[in-house]
Amino acid sequence: MSKKENFCKGSSSAVVFGEIMCEKLKVSAVEAVCNKTGVDIAGQMMCSFPAFNGNRLNLEKHVLASLAEKEDFNIFMTYIQNPRAQVEAFIKEQVKEYMFMTQKVKAQNILKKNVEEISRVISQALFEATEKVKKEEGDIQMWVEEFSSKLKPKLTLDTVSCQNFSDINNFEFLKEEIEKGLKSITTEMSKLSLEKVNNCRQKPDQILIDQLCNCCWERCPFCAAVCTNTLKDHSPEKHSVPFHRPSGVEGWHVRGTVDLVIDFCTTLVASDRAFYADAGSEEAFPFKQYPTAGEKYASWSITADASMLAYWKWFICHFQNELEVYYDLKFQGSGEIPQHWKNFSKKDKK
Ligand SMILES: [Zn+2]
Ligand SMILES: [Zn+2]
Repeated sequence: MSKKENFCKGSSSAVVFGEIMCEKLKVSAVEAVCNKTGVDIAGQMMCSFPAFNGNRLNLEKHVLASLAEKEDFNIFMTYIQNPRAQVEAFIKEQVKEYMFMTQKVKAQNILKKNVEEISRVISQALFEATEKVKKEEGDIQMWVEEFSSKLKPKLTLDTVSCQNFSDINNFEFLKEEIEKGLKSITTEMSKLSLEKVNNCRQKPDQILIDQLCNCCWERCPFCAAVCTNTLKDHSPEKHSVPFHRPSGVEGWHVRGTVDLVIDFCTTLVASDRAFYADAGSEEAFPFKQYPTAGEKYASWSITADASMLAYWKWFICHFQNELEVYYDLKFQGSGEIPQHWKNFSKKDKK
């Protein structure tokens, strides 16, 4: 008889098995608390955080407000060229601020509540599995199956081999052994920090990114405004956005000159002007028939109207120099900035 077999006799078996069980429980319990807390924080922000609890346009509004707040030209250009990257960065930033600053206490309470809940789930499963096996005079295999299935909705346990423990028959004793270990599991869970939660599998910012960024990211070919459709692929429905921008934001200029285009594309599509579909093409298309210029244009529905968001007027005035340097072009000639645009502030709504 080997040393191990010898050790595993009778109640000693229960002690060893209890220890193995507690080690596995500790890993699962910590993971369960982390993941649940991540999901809960994300859920709470989806319900009550102003930037995340509305529609796509609402999120966009908050992203723009945050960009205006920072007044950083480089971040603006990231947003214009790769809006998704900037929106993801915005979400990460907001979650961090929420979890570690503005709503830190709330987030910690969620964590605490989940530690208590997982402890309770384990105790309850322990009690129920033991009662059932005692009543039905089952063996250790049955006990493990019962215990795992009672835990299942809240935490997943790694497979435990019962092969060397078939001699366990005092399940009340086994329960007490595991209960002793539960104290240290609870202590381990209580040591969890919000930093740890933010690094687990179910990170709150990633959950929110998956939810909020799973939509269309096509940009208007004339001004780079992002389609606000909530579906990633919404063909045959055309891309659209309620607010367009002056085309110069995207670097559109008059061919053969360095004059940037100051007009909003909603104005352009109603004008008698024409454009070249891309830098190398020779054929000019009338703006009024922009969908004839190719799929890139035809896939958009740009309604001619006079809705010119003051925000972009402010942006162009505020960053005129930076934009001119960035594109190596000028707001001059037909692209001269109207004098009254300079009166707009970044806070003007319309
Ligand atoms: Zn546009
Ligand atoms: Zn779209």
